[in-house]
Amino acid sequence: MNILVINAGSSSIKYQLIDMDTELPLASGLVERIGLEEGVVKYKTFVNGEKKELKETFPIPNHTVGLKRVAELLTDEKVGVISDPSEIQAVGHRLVHGGEAFTKTVEITEAVKAKVKELFPLAPLHNPANLIGVEVAETVFPNAKQVGVFDTAFHQTIPEKAFRYAIPVEFYKEMGIRKYGFHGTSHKFVSEQAAEYLGKEDAKIITIHLGNGASMAAVNGGVCVDTTMGMGPLCGLIMGTRSGDIDPAIIFFLAEQKGYSVNEISSLLNKESGMKGLTGQTDMRDVEKLLDEGDENAILACDMYAYRIKQFIGSYAAVMNGVDALVFTAGIGENKTSIRKLVCQDMGYLGIEWDEEKDKNRTDGVHEINTDNAKTKVLIIPTNEELEIARQTLEVVK
Ligand code: AMP
Repeated sequence: MNILVINAGSSSIKYQLIDMDTELPLASGLVERIGLEEGVVKYKTFVNGEKKELKETFPIPNHTVGLKRVAELLTDEKVGVISDPSEIQAVGHRLVHGGEAFTKTVEITEAVKAKVKELFPLAPLHNPANLIGVEVAETVFPNAKQVGVFDTAFHQTIPEKAFRYAIPVEFYKEMGIRKYGFHGTSHKFVSEQAAEYLGKEDAKIITIHLGNGASMAAVNGGVCVDTTMGMGPLCGLIMGTRSGDIDPAIIFFLAEQKGYSVNEISSLLNKESGMKGLTGQTDMRDVEKLLDEGDENAILACDMYAYRIKQFIGSYAAVMNGVDALVFTAGIGENKTSIRKLVCQDMGYLGIEWDEEKDKNRTDGVHEINTDNAKTKVLIIPTNEELEIARQTLEVVK
């Protein structure tokens, strides 16, 4: 079976066609700059070991035009990987916010779409775009089943004492203000691999997803019991451009002292803060260059970045009454040695002992970077959210 995985944003569609017999991608790419003057379609295939890559630039007024072009490329005589769109049996959609309504992956029906619409206020940037992706896929691939995989679903097991905020009850009851958490697909994917690697179903695992967005999860026996993001993705860890946790009083202070509007404060905390605010650079590779130059802001920013992670490791070890493994994943988690080193430093009381040599000699798949005698495993596990979405989609449609 071939499953197309779609992640639709307001002006982009990320896609990957996966052959579920091999679990390998047949083709993948990105439609970008939808609605702008010059749209871009990027397309890559990997069939029979042969790699083909192309990039097209033309006006893409809406998502339908973009996805139709992807369907043409997938079935193209020269670069295509299937002969007819009907060879795509299911489309798995990344849906960001499932609120309390969705605790697992579901086939998308009219009722599901209506519920996703109801949740727009909770994820005003993501859910509307995700839903456009669904509606467009329904027209471009009318024979395929459409399945929704929610970023929040894995976190729905978090107990009430952890997901509630101490504000008047009605704000939870009437407006759904509570912690939801995100990156659930990734936390689920890597925590399951870690448990399998440990050979321990009831393992206590702390997953650390460090990409452009970043979050951690405490997973006890396969069940998520806490996570660092909240009602939205702004809180918890320091990220590329997001502040992570700050004292909420800062918001009032900025409004009062600077006269900033809600939008201005939102933009400051979501787009101008985090590593960008501290160093001027969003991408960790650029922060790394600053570190090499001895830039003091960059040194402090990395210390702060790692310190916040350490704080949550302590917190989650306390919450689970122990920890069997830490898992580093996503762009920074998988690639940035210096952050792993800073995080694991002076954590002997939790049995965490980082091994530099093992970290240097990276292998594919699950890679252990703790010393031989360490009580707690420290693992690098590459995340693969597309594959996890495809696997869950398959479970629903088979
Ligand atoms: P993601 O959101 O998982 O794609 O991760 C994006 C982040 O990972 C960016 O901040 C990148 O700078 C970072 N990243 C990717 N590759 C590397 C690398 N080799 N070394 C350091 N950071 C990296």
